[in-house]
Formats: sequence, C-alpha cells, structure tokens
Amino acid sequence: MDFKIGCIPGDGIGPEIVREARKVLDAVGERFSHRFVYTEIDMGGCSIDKYGIPLTDEAIKKSLESDAVLMGSVGGNTATSPWYKLPPEKRPEAGLLGIRKALKLFANLRPSFLFPELKAACPLREQVAEAGFDFIMVRELTGGLYFGERYTKVIDGKETAVDTLIYNEDEIRRVSKKAFEIAEKRRKKVTLVDKANVLDSSRLWRKITAQTAAEYPDIELDYMLVDNAAMQIVKDPAQFDVVLTENMFGDILSDEAAQITGSIGMLPSASLNETKFGLYEPSGGSAPDIAGLNIANPIATVLSAAMMLKYSFDLSEESAAVEEAVKAVMAEGIRTGDIMSEGCRKVSTSEMGDYIAGKVKEGKC
Ligand code: NAD
Repeated sequence: MDFKIGCIPGDGIGPEIVREARKVLDAVGERFSHRFVYTEIDMGGCSIDKYGIPLTDEAIKKSLESDAVLMGSVGGNTATSPWYKLPPEKRPEAGLLGIRKALKLFANLRPSFLFPELKAACPLREQVAEAGFDFIMVRELTGGLYFGERYTKVIDGKETAVDTLIYNEDEIRRVSKKAFEIAEKRRKKVTLVDKANVLDSSRLWRKITAQTAAEYPDIELDYMLVDNAAMQIVKDPAQFDVVLTENMFGDILSDEAAQITGSIGMLPSASLNETKFGLYEPSGGSAPDIAGLNIANPIATVLSAAMMLKYSFDLSEESAAVEEAVKAVMAEGIRTGDIMSEGCRKVSTSEMGDYIAGKVKEGKC
C-alpha cells in the first residue's frame, strides 16, 4: 500500500533523528511491500529563518494532505538563540501549538516502557525495575484548565486569579474512546485518573468514561485518584496498561512516567485527532547541545514511526517488527552515547538507524 507522510524535521537534532526513522520506515516498506511517500514540511526555527514565522499556512496544508505527520523537534537554545528574542507567538514552539490546533489533535499518547537492557538507568527500586512495566498514557490535549477562561482582577479588595477547569461530555467521550481503542490492541485495561472526590469535572469524566466502557465489554475499567496515581507510578508501574486522564493531570504524570524509564532518547509519542490521522514525535526536545554531531539517539523517533504504523496506518505487524528490531539491537549491546553502559558498543545516530533498519530487513524479529 501507499502512505503519504508529512515530515517535519524541525531544528537541532530533529533532521538527524527523522532521517533515521525514515530509513527504518523504508526498510519496513521493502520487507512488507509498502511505499512511504514523504513531503518535507518546514516548522519551528527553520521556518522562522525562511519565512519569518514558525508555522505557515502552506505547512498546515501539506500536513493536512498527508496520512500522518512524523516530526523531529523544534526550538533552539533558549538562552542564546535569536528566535527567543521574538515575542512568544513568533517563537519556534508556537509552531507546535499552532499545528496541534490546526490538526485538531486532542489525544496525546505517551508509552512508558522499560527496556530490560536499560534497567540500570531506571531510578526505581531494584525489584520494581526487575518486574518491568509497559503502559501508555492517554492525555486529553485541548481542554481543561489550560484552555478554560482565566483572569486576574481585584475582588473584595484583594488581587485574585481565576483559572477555569472546563470539560464537556463530547470532549471526554472522544478521548475515552481513543483510550479504549488502544486498550483493545494491548492488555485490555483502562485506568481513569481523576480527582472525583473533589472535582465536578472529574465526576463527569467518570460518568462519560463508564458509558464508553459499556461499548467495550472485554475491557476492564478502573478508577484512581490522581494523588494516588502519582505514588503508584513509582511504586508499582506494572499494574497499568492504559492510563486515561485530563490535560493537566496528564501533563504532570506523563513527565513522571517518562522519568522512570531512565532515558528521554527512547520515548516516542503520538497526538491523534478524531480520524486515523496523527502527529508522531519523540518526547524529548531538539537537544541543541548535541545537534549536528551525529550522536543523538534516534530510537524515540523510530518508535514514534512504529506508533504511526500501528495507529494511523493499521499496520500492527509492521509496527511490531520495528519494536522487535529495536529490542534486538538493544540485546546486542549497541548503544548511542546517552544510553551507553560498560561492555556495550557505542555507535553514532546514523549507525543506530542502520542497525535497526538492518534488523527490520532481516525479518527475523
Ligand atoms: P531537550 O530534550 O532538547 O534536551 C534535554 C537533554 O536531553 C539534553 O542534554 C539533550 O542533549 C538530551 N537529549 C534529548 N534528546 C536526546 C536524544 N534523542 N539523544 C540524546 N540526548 C538527548 O530539552 P531542552 O534542552 O529543555 O530543550 C531544548 C529545545 O527543545 C528548547 O528549544 C525546547 O523548547 C525544545 N523542545 C521542543 C519540544 C518539541 O518539539 N516537542 C519538546 C521539548 C523541548
């Protein structure tokens, strides 16, 4: 089959890590007889340099014409780059917020998975790391406290700030459906994280999510208060399969979930809309400190491409082949500098891409 992929290399290490993900996708194409057609899209700092703004209408148009978008990262050194002398709405990261809005990406998916070979980097207790974990956080991305009405004014003679946490049933229903669809392809369990003992919005989340659950009888739904969830993620992360939560709780918990894996260079992410369309990118930033040196870890971007195969193209076997190829390369002790440990072999960004693509082509995994 043919698939159209919009490619946003972006800034810093972005072009290097996207190049390796494309290499791996092309290996998938070769092995499984698919054709991936790429359209280059400028966004972030490189778009500012060319067009004066971080996101052009042309970039949005090209993204919308694609079946999915693969992104590297945008932004530069926030202390030294001239991009950060611009007003906030003209800086590289404004491009990211703009494209999320234009593409109506309301569900953010972040897997949290511990590679057995990287257990030593896991900051959790040894027994917890030994047991391993593999869960995915589904965070609502376009509603809640960050998008509700806010203001600061003097009330009763005191300066007072108000932020509004607002959700309607449609916003909850569409993201809860995503969570259940994902659970269907995994271990069939959804944990809704909320603060239903205090917040009305959380009680609505429970009501609507229970309605969604009724449409998926083979999937278990349980509930957890957010304060408890923050503890359970470090105490017993193996209990989770799909964690569904609203915007702010997800913002905080997804960073906690990233931290326990021990390496930012390994973590993929996806942002989805109501169709099969998604934007796929590594969880890390543009790492300007190592840009252009061919030493960045491309695995998070490669695994983001694997998520694209699964969630946007329904190519589960192909997606699994990429994940298995990454595991095989890890098992052989091949490492980029950020995940290097004694007895392993240190390779460059492009060599890591070559190894993973090679494993995919071999077809043994
Ligand atoms: P960062 O994630 O870019 O870097 C933090 C540290 O992790 C650095 O030491 C970096 O070298 C390392 N690192 C990150 N990714 C790596 C990889 N793949 N391989 C090896 N090492 C890696 O975070 P930061 O320094 O806070 O931000 C740098 C820039 O990235 C800023 O302009 C920021 O706004 C931007 N940013 C963009 C996104 C995005 O595009 N989605 C996300 C986060 C940060």
